[in-house]
Amino acid sequence: MTDVFGSGDHEQVVFCRDEPSGLRAIIAIHSTALGPALGGTRFHPYPSEDDALLDVLHLSTAMSYKNALAGLDHGGGKAVILGDPIRDKTEALLRAYGRFVQSLGGRYITACDVGTYVEDMDVVALESGFVTGRSLSHGGAGDSSILTAFGVFQGMRAAAQHVWGSPTLSGRRVGISGVGKVGKLLVDHLLADRAQVVVADISDQAIERVCAAHPEVAVAPATETLVREPIDVYAPCALGSALDDPTVAVLHAKIVCGGANNQLAHPGVEKFLDERGILYAPDYVVNAGGVVQVADEIGGFDFQRAHARVAKIFDTTREIFELADRDGVPPAVAADHLAERRMAKPGFLHSAG
Ligand code: NAD
Repeated sequence: MTDVFGSGDHEQVVFCRDEPSGLRAIIAIHSTALGPALGGTRFHPYPSEDDALLDVLHLSTAMSYKNALAGLDHGGGKAVILGDPIRDKTEALLRAYGRFVQSLGGRYITACDVGTYVEDMDVVALESGFVTGRSLSHGGAGDSSILTAFGVFQGMRAAAQHVWGSPTLSGRRVGISGVGKVGKLLVDHLLADRAQVVVADISDQAIERVCAAHPEVAVAPATETLVREPIDVYAPCALGSALDDPTVAVLHAKIVCGGANNQLAHPGVEKFLDERGILYAPDYVVNAGGVVQVADEIGGFDFQRAHARVAKIFDTTREIFELADRDGVPPAVAADHLAERRMAKPGFLHSAG
């Protein structure tokens, strides 16, 4: 098993098992330096327990960075439930999971992630007060993709400002890979800004939904084709590792900015993007709208307040590009530095230099 104490810097990792419901879950708290750890619950059929552990350790670390740069008073945490969400998810299992979340006394606050939905959080909340991402009818913030997409659009506007001198995508051609919950809402923002949009998705249904709403949207046969098209901006909005070496090598886009998590396939891709003159808006900076939305639920959800907070992703993204230029590092590195500074010094954000 992975050497948790030797190789990681997590505060707490909790293994959860409930025989009657079949629950097997891992909750990882990376940091509470800025406040209670906040991050979603992923329900996924991992090939092994080691894979699940590695994933939750990575994901919870990433949440510390994301929450720090979103200006939230939250540390980073994440949970994984091992299993097939379609086959294994039951009320008993979710309630057992809720009892484990509750047992941590608020050190970890959960939310939705891949494989869990607002209705699931309503069930988890039957057992725990430390749950966000519940449905609107249960006092929750509802679907987090709304403000995620809005935040990605703000990051893209900041990138456009940096590259073309104006915070608009008007007249630019934007390629979106993945038009699920986030990607399809991003299409709406881009069309309202008078951008041209071309999309790719492995799901015919997802493509049909977008084309029915917006017949002017062009469709690429696959992501592999989309990235070779003469697009100005590439927006990965599907799964992780969208930016590998072969993809970066053929990209025409001057900007990469999308909602997907973990876009860089391996360390070093951020340098390759830089060398190719492609401005990369760090994924966890621009896709923080969803966590800002659910964090707002803790004090009683107010959409306008959360929206105003997510709009600040524009400023944060610009600041990161400026720091990157100043320090001669890729934006992904500048973002990590800024997040680490805030974690080392709670209360600090957006100070010059
Ligand atoms: P989703 O499942 O609704 O949409 C993903 C879409 O990508 C689907 O339509 C799927 O068919 C498509 N897809 C999968 N593989 C593809 C491929 N190889 N090529 C093209 N399309 C492909 O998920 P979502 O909620 O829209 O999230 C999208 C991404 O954004 C994920 O990486 C997620 O982790 C991240 N994210 C989402 C939120 C949120 O609030 N929903 C917040 C932060 C980050």
